[in-house]
Amino acid sequence: MIRPEKPKDEAARLEALRRYQILDTPPEQAFDDLVEIATTICGTQMGAVTLIDEDRQWFKARKGMGATETPREFAFCAHAILTPNQLFTVENAEADARFLGNPYVTGNPHVRFYAGAPLLGSEGEALGTLCVFDDTPAILNDEQRHALEALSRQASHLMELRRVAHALDKQLRERDWYEEQLAQYSESLETLNADLTEQTRTDVLTGLPNRRAFAVALAAELAREDGGGLPLSVAIIDIDHFKTINDLHGHDQGDEVLVALAGLLRAHIAGRGMIARLGGEEFVMLLPGAPTEPARLQCEFLRQEIALLPINLPVTVSIGVAQLQAGESPDQCLKRADQALYQAKRDGRDRVVVSEIVPAYA
Ligand code: GH3
Ligand code: MG
Ligand code: MG
Repeated sequence: MIRPEKPKDEAARLEALRRYQILDTPPEQAFDDLVEIATTICGTQMGAVTLIDEDRQWFKARKGMGATETPREFAFCAHAILTPNQLFTVENAEADARFLGNPYVTGNPHVRFYAGAPLLGSEGEALGTLCVFDDTPAILNDEQRHALEALSRQASHLMELRRVAHALDKQLRERDWYEEQLAQYSESLETLNADLTEQTRTDVLTGLPNRRAFAVALAAELAREDGGGLPLSVAIIDIDHFKTINDLHGHDQGDEVLVALAGLLRAHIAGRGMIARLGGEEFVMLLPGAPTEPARLQCEFLRQEIALLPINLPVTVSIGVAQLQAGESPDQCLKRADQALYQAKRDGRDRVVVSEIVPAYA
């Protein structure tokens, strides 16, 4: 027996074979069909699509035989790939020095006849063969030889198609992966944006809406097409002598007063209207549907509620109230509420003052 040599381009050949990613893959009908046609045309019992790996011959398709792979040194196909552009035939292995003592000749499947047409890679590398073989000697006629060569070219095309299809599939999967990453990224950005928006609208200490959020809510109320919010009043609530509370009890205690007051204001408004922290120890209240007098009464009630806050400190507030007038801007109305608040301070604090100045807006 003569062991097959390695082709001169062995390294490039193996590299090409790896690119096809076909070794150890499951059987595929298209390759099985080619073997079926080849054995039928050539009149043999056995046939295969084989690939010659570094140390083994592996069968992508096979007919009439059991093994899925054999050692390369005993493979007829390992001889066939040494002449990539030629059909390799052995008419009687028993009479051929290269196969004397070959275990597949002396034992199962007792190969006598063999014909293999090399499968070529895109650069002409011989990767394996489409082969037919039998346990009795035989000779192929020209038509059979040409048919086997043609079928081998089809098998090479099939491998190429398979490679391109897998590459495309990989690209598509990668694209899906990138799209998924992008979607996740934009989702986290949206969450971040929502958090930021929330932060820009909320006062950190009390959790109440801030001045900006109040301005937005007031503008929305005024923009209501059904005019449902009108008449509408605003009230500015300012803690009396808060600086003294800070000075006497400390800043932390001051903070606790602000938080407690915020809780009371939130409960007081109970979903009707809106309460926001304007800044420092000042809060602003939106009273939709309330003209001056009901607004004043509500604020009076609120003032008394605050005086009863259970916080072990005497806390009072002054409140300035103004009803939005026709043609008046929200800012002008707030300014009047602020002026009323200052009047309350001047009058001695712990009281509610209503802006009586009715401006003559055009
Ligand atoms: P008035 O009755 O005239 O309103 O007097 P006031 O002391 O309440 O008013 P003033 O404007 O003189 O002082 C307000 C104080 O509120 C000063 C400032 O240090 C304090 N303050 C502002 N923001 C905070 C805060 O978030 N926490 C605490 N603890 N104090 C604050
Ligand atoms: Mg104050
Ligand atoms: Mg103040």
